[in-house]
Amino acid sequence: KLQFPGQPEYIQAVSQVLGTIEEEYNKHPEFDRYNLIERLCIPDRVIKFRVNWVDDKGKVQTNMGYRIQHNNAIGPYKGGIRFHASVNESILKFLAFEQTFKNSLTTLPMGGAKGGSDFSPRGKSNNEVMRFCNAFMDELSRYIGPDTDVPAGDIGVGGREVGYMFGEYKRLTHQFVGILTGKGQEFGGSLIRPEATGYGNVYFLDDMLHTRDIDIKGKTVLVSGAGNVAQYTIEKLLQLGAKPVTCSDSDGYIYDPDGIDEEKLAYIMELKNVERGRIKEYAEKYGVKYVGNGAKPWGEKADIATPCATQNEIDGEAAKTLLANGVIAVSEGANMPCTPEAIKAFQDAKILYCPGKASNAGGVATSGLEMSQNSERLKWTAKEVDDRLHAIMDNIHENCVKYGTEPDGYINYVKGANVAGFMKVARAMMAQGI
Ligand code: NDP
Repeated sequence: KLQFPGQPEYIQAVSQVLGTIEEEYNKHPEFDRYNLIERLCIPDRVIKFRVNWVDDKGKVQTNMGYRIQHNNAIGPYKGGIRFHASVNESILKFLAFEQTFKNSLTTLPMGGAKGGSDFSPRGKSNNEVMRFCNAFMDELSRYIGPDTDVPAGDIGVGGREVGYMFGEYKRLTHQFVGILTGKGQEFGGSLIRPEATGYGNVYFLDDMLHTRDIDIKGKTVLVSGAGNVAQYTIEKLLQLGAKPVTCSDSDGYIYDPDGIDEEKLAYIMELKNVERGRIKEYAEKYGVKYVGNGAKPWGEKADIATPCATQNEIDGEAAKTLLANGVIAVSEGANMPCTPEAIKAFQDAKILYCPGKASNAGGVATSGLEMSQNSERLKWTAKEVDDRLHAIMDNIHENCVKYGTEPDGYINYVKGANVAGFMKVARAMMAQGI
């Protein structure tokens, strides 16, 4: 029944979920009577708009803007905004679809959405980014609200962009409300939100390793990306005594056999968040290997891999190489970074593998905690937020084990996460009628 030609990422995400929930779904004939699958495959709303902004030379530029409101059965729409040249309807639909089940897994009351633009912040001045964010929010503001739809950051949208969009919403509406999460600490942002996706990813990885009595300490780890998720994945890996040896950007990757330590991580954060430079500069500074031309780090030898850049960055071939090099666990920091062929290879080899909707749910979970703090006009301590984040990740892990353990004892985290996420949304949809 899928009628979405030209939307390969969307079909990939939908097929992945439908393929794993079938058995559970068939136990509930009432779901079929309510046509739940078809209703879940068609987003509630696809909003598309034009964004006009003026560059530094005074020329008017035009980009596409989108907001996909996928499902609000269990709470207001919630999901990030992505600014990247590759953004299109298929990618945002897959992200919004995944977000619905991910948000359900967090146990917090949040529906699923995603938005963005094909605008690329790369190479743009600060003023250009601000003018674009203002123009984007001028249109997006019509469709969002603190109890309707609460966007956040994603690729290309960090604290700077969230701040500009928040300011524009405030100027447009004369209201200071929790309309976005990932805000600055001075105006309603939650402590630990910047760290949350990366930290949560490593908490989940550690939980997976515990199921096989493996200590994360001393393990070498391949990380891809050098943005928000990669940076805080590396930070938490270091805190737990693991040794991250790679990171990357869209131009290539660095391999540091001595490990990326705290000092080198501080340099990466300055390079990427302040100077907005390229990862190649790390290799020049520390005299380590750099591979360009968009190369990915999966050919390097390590115990664990955690893709934290973008979708489909580990294909079947890369998965075979990782397995041949003895990788024992793959934890997705990014959304859908492994292709179906890669997932099959990991599962056939019975290594620990978990999908992003479980392992990277810590980001949106902490966004949910930011919404709670905004509603009660209070700010929780870093420890309180981090403890809650850790507890949420442990709970997601338990649910994956509950719904995903196979007769031979192997934990199929894909099935576990999809079934656990789906059941709650399905029951809420049933209860609310059509
Ligand atoms: P950032 O923009 O902070 O960083 C993205 C990193 O990935 C950059 O190093 C970027 O390199 C690289 N990258 C982006 N696109 C590509 C590409 N097509 N090919 C190769 N490298 C690429 O984004 P985040 O860290 O926030 O997001 C990373 C992933 O994590 C995404 O899949 C996102 O959906 C997911 N995620 C993020 C959450 C969050 O809280 N931020 C929450 C849950 C999931 P370059 O600078 O060269 O573009």
